[in-house]
Amino acid sequence: MATTAFVSFLAFVGRLAVLAQSLPRLLAGMILALAIGVALVPAPAAAQGRTAPPAELKQISNDLYFFYEFAGSNAVFMVTDEGVLVIDTRTHPRPGQALLDMIRKVTDKPIKWVINSHFHGDHHFGNAPFKAAGATFVAQAETARIMQHVQAKEMARRIDGFKSQGLDPNEVKLILADVTFDNTMTIKLGGREVRLMYLGPGQQAGDTFVAFPHERALFTPGAFGKRSMPNMAFTPSVDSWVNLLEQVAAMDVDRILPAHGDVATRADVKELAAMLADEYATVKDAVAKGLSVDDAIKTLTFPQYKDWRNYNRLAGEIRALYELIQTGKRSYLD
Ligand SMILES: [Zn+2]
Repeated sequence: MATTAFVSFLAFVGRLAVLAQSLPRLLAGMILALAIGVALVPAPAAAQGRTAPPAELKQISNDLYFFYEFAGSNAVFMVTDEGVLVIDTRTHPRPGQALLDMIRKVTDKPIKWVINSHFHGDHHFGNAPFKAAGATFVAQAETARIMQHVQAKEMARRIDGFKSQGLDPNEVKLILADVTFDNTMTIKLGGREVRLMYLGPGQQAGDTFVAFPHERALFTPGAFGKRSMPNMAFTPSVDSWVNLLEQVAAMDVDRILPAHGDVATRADVKELAAMLADEYATVKDAVAKGLSVDDAIKTLTFPQYKDWRNYNRLAGEIRALYELIQTGKRSYLD
């Protein structure tokens, strides 16, 4: 569209954003999503056997935005006068660029920081456009190490997904962290403090939680998804995972912004901790009784979780737990 038309469109968006602040949060988010037109990427055919809702951008508070894509992965960004902080960059440089374009419709401030929350490619393969934009990349030390170590495997398990979405795998570049941390790190930006925390391994070593204390919000990595069966192939310790979810459920925050799935509550985190403990104890018991993995898959159907997301992965999860319990190994990380 012509420049003047675009400028007046932006002014219109700005007026809507002001209007949105005076409306209830849900309605405000809907108006913002409409105004900046975020259903940018057609959702891949529903992986879960139902139609996935289109991607949307939710304004969580004055300065905090949640990009929610049910069929893909989420991202969070915080906008300040001094610049922008982003958590996760989606699955490929093209959706990464679409995220950056979305941020650009909200603010023209520089992209200062990008945090990669864990090593899975669907959270950092979109790094390249943010690198080009001059961001400084941060990751927990184990995340940074594993990102490099399993790059080929992460690519291999995503090639089909790229092809089905018309994304060229050759465009993916591994962009590693400029700064790493071990346990905690605080980033100060535009008068806010953002706190990065490593609470021990969850879904995998390196899982990074990010608190926005001024908004009483917490970003969670792949270690949490609301009513979603977890991926068991990477964790070195389910006990540690349950423990850190219980810590998160006890934190003084109002809103959970997860790497997958919609905005959640501490009660949802507690529910996942209980589910994980239940699944782990049940499979451990089967191993102790000498049940073969194939018999365990036939008999342990966990019907109480049949409505959870990713229930169709159950056989793979039981197999992965058998590997952990019987050998202590995580072959994916070899
Ligand atoms: Zn993911």
